[in-house]
Amino acid sequence: MKLDALSLPNPVDVLVVGAGPAGATAARHAARAGARVLVVDKRKQLGVPVQCGEYYPSAVVDGEPIAASAIQAQAGRCEVYFDAGPEPISVARDNGILIDRCAFDRWLVLRAIQAGATVRVGATLRGLDDHTARIMTASGPVDVTFGRLVAADGAVSTTRSQLGAAAIDTVAGLQVEVAGPRRIEGVAYFFWRDFPSGYGWVFSKAATANVGVAGDAAQLQRFLDRLLVWLAAEQPLSVLRWVAGRIPRFAPDFMKSQGSVMFAGDAAGAIDEVTWGGLEPAVVTGRRAGQWAACTAPASHLADPCFERMLLSAAQRRAQWLAAGQLDLQSLATAWYSLQTSDRDI
Ligand SMILES: Cc1cc2nc3c(=O)[nH]c(=O)nc-3n(C[C@H](O)[C@H](O)[C@H](O)COP(=O)(O)OP(=O)(O)OC[C@H]3O[C@@H](n4cnc5c(N)ncnc54)[C@H](O)[C@@H]3O)c2cc1C
Repeated sequence: MKLDALSLPNPVDVLVVGAGPAGATAARHAARAGARVLVVDKRKQLGVPVQCGEYYPSAVVDGEPIAASAIQAQAGRCEVYFDAGPEPISVARDNGILIDRCAFDRWLVLRAIQAGATVRVGATLRGLDDHTARIMTASGPVDVTFGRLVAADGAVSTTRSQLGAAAIDTVAGLQVEVAGPRRIEGVAYFFWRDFPSGYGWVFSKAATANVGVAGDAAQLQRFLDRLLVWLAAEQPLSVLRWVAGRIPRFAPDFMKSQGSVMFAGDAAGAIDEVTWGGLEPAVVTGRRAGQWAACTAPASHLADPCFERMLLSAAQRRAQWLAAGQLDLQSLATAWYSLQTSDRDI
């Protein structure tokens, strides 16, 4: 293959930084609207390493059923435990899907490519100056000229720091992939009175489960250990993989554009503050950022009151629990019921 076949298209109408769910969805929508789109990602391989519990709250993503290759199991049911009591305090039907996150990200990126976007991995945003971005590639730096930029580069966003925008506040996540826990079918969430800043989860697939905690970094190991001990009571566990990562806190101004740049997904602080699920908000804000970047709609016309209300009310609920000093069992159970059982197709 000739080397220039791999050179970056330049100039472009839309530059997307980050090929996660937010960036891939933005690229798809911008390309569908006819824009010349380039997506760059610093990773060498799409979706790797996986830093995710791999739970998606619906079988539909951006208006289409999730590709069969990215589905590992149906959640089926959701249990909520408090202080690791022997029985769950609530059980609900759950329409969520356990995905293979690597295959999921790849599927979203392929859809963007089918819509006309060009994608380059191993290409890192290093600098930003008005309408020019410095991209570091294996063959050296390239200055790409763009009309609009979608910053979808995750919770610790280089684009934010390049623009002098305040960093997104984050919490820490710690997770293990284990084989063997038969105690939980589907998904389960764990809350502890002495861990008001966070919670734990078990997302079960056929033979393995993702077991994690998120919240104050100093407490994560202790509560993950607590959860693993509880799970291992019935059967020994084998640990297959450790995962650590940052999860954004909700930012109320998550859909604001800054000049020729719009943030999407984790980089925008678009998160459900109750579940700390960021995949669906990444897809929704990615779609909007892509439409804005292709100039098909001004930012002010892209708001979706239903989605906005959902994220806002989740943030308010968490704030109320924390202000109350301890978690109120009843409101917690109700919140999880309503969040987990609502039919959604956002
Ligand atoms: C332990 C853990 C478990 C989680 N579990 C779940 C879950 O079960 N369900 C759920 O909904 N959410 C979960 N989340 C949150 C979810 O993973 C994120 O909200 C989601 O990945 C956000 O997507 P995104 O596209 O905004 O960002 P990302 O998926 O983080 O993608 C950002 C991309 O930008 C690239 N990038 C970064 N900097 C640069 C740069 N300078 N130049 C080029 N590229 C760059 C990165 O390589 C990356 O590919 C979890 C998070 C953690 C940490």
